[in-house]
Amino acid sequence: MLPGPTLILACPKCSAPHRSGTLESGNTFGAKVWSDGKMIAPMMPEEPAFTKCSACGTFCWVSDMPQIGSYSPWSNSPQREPLSFNVSIDDIWDEEELVARRWAAEFGCSIDGAQRMLQKLPIELAKDVDAATVNKLTAKYEELGLSVARMPCRTSTEPVPQEWATAPDLLSLNEIEIFSALGGGLARTPDEEILLRIAAWHAGNDDYRDGSKAWVPYLERNAAATSNLELLLVLLDKSKASHRLMAGEIARQLGQFDDTLSWLDQDKLEHASFEDEQQKENLLAFMAFIRGLVLQRNSQLVQFDES
Ligand SMILES: [Zn+2]
Repeated sequence: MLPGPTLILACPKCSAPHRSGTLESGNTFGAKVWSDGKMIAPMMPEEPAFTKCSACGTFCWVSDMPQIGSYSPWSNSPQREPLSFNVSIDDIWDEEELVARRWAAEFGCSIDGAQRMLQKLPIELAKDVDAATVNKLTAKYEELGLSVARMPCRTSTEPVPQEWATAPDLLSLNEIEIFSALGGGLARTPDEEILLRIAAWHAGNDDYRDGSKAWVPYLERNAAATSNLELLLVLLDKSKASHRLMAGEIARQLGQFDDTLSWLDQDKLEHASFEDEQQKENLLAFMAFIRGLVLQRNSQLVQFDES
């Protein structure tokens, strides 16, 4: 595992600083995976995507917390984020012809014209723009298959605030907190609602992962926990193999064993085409594991053993 810089992110409401670790590279050596899909990997720790400010208690998406500084992993001296950036396209990471087609469709030019343009890398996109603009440009051009580089333009000479040294890590939320955020309308799209409902489900199962506490079936839990799973079942996109597998596991944990098998169609998965064959193999192994639990009429959370 190779750590990347520690980012200093500000609360979007009160600007209180928080720390978020990053990774240059990680791996799943020694990782544990459970039937609900949660993985805990010591060599690939995950930061939350959704959190709560440690100072004012505001719920927010981490992607909405502006980055105000960073610490390099090899030094303890923090740096402020540049005030503005110059942005350019510096590389193509997909097939050139595909990228040219996407470029032509996006900008209404000919494919030949797009190819000539792409041969002139680097292409300057913007000068002296803020981080939010950089992020928008990066998302737009990465979608086309291009790599976007940001270079500092204007930098601050202000000293770094003392409080950065003691800034708390991003908080991981418990089930009740996530239900409260959902009730407060913090999920702005169906995809965000799916993410929050999965996070609440995983958090609600966290007490049972190490086997020290006896499993409480969902039918005996509070109404909020059960209806969270029922709503998640409705939201999942059943055209995706990974979502069908998750739907099967949710139905199993709800004790709806007959519904479960309808989501876990092994034949359909075996005949599906995947860009990544390894992903298909992993899904098939996981599906066989869940089907085995269903046949035992077992609704408990179980650790998945790949061997
Ligand atoms: Zn705050």
